[in-house]
Amino acid sequence: MEKPKKLLTTSNPKTMKGQKKGYETYILHLAPSNLSGTNTCPSASKGCATACLNEAGMGCFDSVQNARITRTKYFFEKRDAFMEMLDKEIKSAIATAERKGLTPAFRLNGTSDIRWEEIRYGDENKTVFEYFPQIQFYDYTKIPNRGRKKGLPDNYTLVFSRSEDNDRFVNQAMRKGQNVAVVFGDPPGLPDVWRGWKVLDGDETDLRFLDPPQRVVGLKAKGTKGKNDTTGFVVYGEGMIDIDALKRRSKKDFKSARGDRSIGPRKIDNESFIPVQSKVSKQMAERTANVIRSTGRKARVVTHKPKIGGKTVEAYAVYVPGVYKRNTSGAINGLRIRAPNRVDYLRQRRSLTKSRQ
Ligand code: SF4
Repeated sequence: MEKPKKLLTTSNPKTMKGQKKGYETYILHLAPSNLSGTNTCPSASKGCATACLNEAGMGCFDSVQNARITRTKYFFEKRDAFMEMLDKEIKSAIATAERKGLTPAFRLNGTSDIRWEEIRYGDENKTVFEYFPQIQFYDYTKIPNRGRKKGLPDNYTLVFSRSEDNDRFVNQAMRKGQNVAVVFGDPPGLPDVWRGWKVLDGDETDLRFLDPPQRVVGLKAKGTKGKNDTTGFVVYGEGMIDIDALKRRSKKDFKSARGDRSIGPRKIDNESFIPVQSKVSKQMAERTANVIRSTGRKARVVTHKPKIGGKTVEAYAVYVPGVYKRNTSGAINGLRIRAPNRVDYLRQRRSLTKSRQ
């Protein structure tokens, strides 16, 4: 079993920008997803695995890729030795940073998504966060439930990283107080606000623990693969109704909504409206309605009283103009809103150019 020469590195251009703010960031780069033969990213999506930053910067060199694979194999096969080496490197990095007058910070998932909060080692059987309680750690994660059971250590800032697969957990992460990283197509670049949250430029520095709460950490798509992504990992706008998902789900959802007598077609200002989403919170209904309105269509939010778990509760539904072609009325539960991808963006640009001609 080959032993890695070194685990932590500091030579990332973004982390070097952090030096201007007085921080020295040390990153552990393992081989992402299944590159080493063992999966280090359990929630990687097709889009993120393809556009992963693993090959960005120094990652384009074979020697760097091999070093990441060696580290990963060592992590899985010689866990105690790996953790002992990591511990020593953290101590040495702290001393070096302090000698330079900088505050050290550590990102252990540079190109992986390991649950470090669950990895214990050494005589005291503690996590790295417990061995170094005064030191700041941070990471990005695509795993929606990290820390749900026991919470995360105070010295570990974890930003939820949105992908085309986990978009539905964005609201939950924000509610939990986690900021959310979103990769935006460039052009058009970062918006000021995304789905109601302010967007900060995440490429300015990598010091995520300094960011104010309730922010989207906007990252611009990088590399050819990122710029050409069409999976929805890289987004080009707020959100749109996923018509394909709607068609696929309508039959099932009509069936499940049959028992709910409080929902159905209704007349609003003499116009026929049908529900497209029901049994949701006011905030979610407003958000859906705003997405629909942003496409130039009408949308109304109304209250209704569905039975959930045997109890009648007050919930909200979103209505759009239209009529049902079938006899059974019912809302489409779990309406899927997806962020526009590159194909939508190019289509929209083409139609704009046409309309100007
Ligand atoms: S989860 Fe992160 S590190 Fe893993 S493949 Fe996706 S982008 Fe890369």
